[in-house]
Amino acid sequence: MDLCDLSIHELKAQLEKEEITVEEVLDSFLQRIDAVEDKVKAYVTVTGTEARERIRAELEGSLAGIPLAVKDNISTEGIRTTCSSKMLENYIPPYNATVVDKLNEAGAVLLGKTNLDEFAMGGSSESSYFHETRNPWNLEYVPGGSSGGSAAAVAAGEAAAALGTDTGGSIRQPAAFCGLVGLKPTYGTVSRYGLMAYAGSMDQIGPITRDVEDAALLLNVISGYDPKDSTSVKREELDYTAFLQEDLAGMKVALPREYLDLVSNPEIKESVLAAFKKMEAEGAKVEEVSLPHLKYAAAVYYILATGEASSNMACYDGVRYGFRSKEAANVAEMFGNTRSEGFGEEVKRRILFGTYVLSANSYEAYYVKAQKVRTLLIKEFEDIFKNYDLIITPTTGDTAFKVGTVTEPLESYKMDTFTVPVNLTGIPAISLPCGFSSKNLPIGIQIMGPQFGDGKIIQAAYSLEKILKLGNKRPELEVAQ
Ligand code: GLN
Repeated sequence: MDLCDLSIHELKAQLEKEEITVEEVLDSFLQRIDAVEDKVKAYVTVTGTEARERIRAELEGSLAGIPLAVKDNISTEGIRTTCSSKMLENYIPPYNATVVDKLNEAGAVLLGKTNLDEFAMGGSSESSYFHETRNPWNLEYVPGGSSGGSAAAVAAGEAAAALGTDTGGSIRQPAAFCGLVGLKPTYGTVSRYGLMAYAGSMDQIGPITRDVEDAALLLNVISGYDPKDSTSVKREELDYTAFLQEDLAGMKVALPREYLDLVSNPEIKESVLAAFKKMEAEGAKVEEVSLPHLKYAAAVYYILATGEASSNMACYDGVRYGFRSKEAANVAEMFGNTRSEGFGEEVKRRILFGTYVLSANSYEAYYVKAQKVRTLLIKEFEDIFKNYDLIITPTTGDTAFKVGTVTEPLESYKMDTFTVPVNLTGIPAISLPCGFSSKNLPIGIQIMGPQFGDGKIIQAAYSLEKILKLGNKRPELEVAQ
């Protein structure tokens, strides 16, 4: 195993004991990027030169010298931030997102900006303007999305961990597809300042890591109140590593039966049910419950998210920043041509759909109704959390699919049913590996907690990770060295 295959806490331990140097760590990651990036294509931009420059300074903080990757819809001062769109192909932000400032203050080293579905709209990373990212477990498969570049980078040893963003599952689903831990924090826990908005009422930044301990370490760094984000929540600062305890005794777990009914791959059901058995053996109590409104979750999500997206995308008009069409006789034509040429197909589909659901004639019938069902879902989850500590489900209904095989938008939208309720209700959730399919593709299990129960889900995930003992299984990429 190379240094680039270690977790953050393993690297930290060796760095602190001075068994290894920051230079050796960075070299190992950059060598891996050189060796596999041609095949994996996790990055839009690799910042190797800047990383080398950065480690010449004495780095201090809880992430001192740890090489990380950041999804390319999070602003980095002086480093282009594209949202994997032609619209922002050459956009260089003049400021850092709050999370990037926080990573810098903690001494982390940025390896690059990772690929995503254009503007985070998608679940496979295939809609990037630049290239498709591949799943390191099998290069014919997608890594999931939209934070597929972040997940692939971590799975392939091209970063020790990465930041992703999750509006409807984009941290948890790629983590599940790539055999990693993905944490979507409670809405308001991590500042969204500098995150290019897709659907602001649901977007949240979170870590994609090799294990639960790393997720807690990263959440400690990136969380906290930020006056620059009006939806940031003022709370006492928690040390999430304090929840890294192996203790499931007395935990009451709800398993919504509607989730199991939606699983299309029987191996996923088997693997998740086996995990429940092991949790019960450790003293957790698992009971089936019902979430009758789950069947509307994807529809509600796509109405609300596209409505918000249509308005968020309005700022890309060729005037303020980014791409501008050269073909235009007047201003109106310039707007139109810029947007026709600058956005990809999926983004345009969502702008059209979102504009429609917000239009005067359909607002009541779609947008307002969806908000009402969102409230019903919130209520349904709250009711379950009155009697249970956690809700646990599969993260996805199937394992990763082959590149190019899911071409119908509705087919891909429906897959999001497993993850979108968490965003609609604002609660925290974590996905961790719970097994492998017969094709050797990772399977993820999702642990949800009540609002601000981030510590609780970290504790449950940490305990489950210890019981499942999947170890440090890593994909066997042919490394051309
Ligand atoms: N797959 C979902 C979508 O396409 C989720 C995306 C996300 O979380 N950014 O909207």
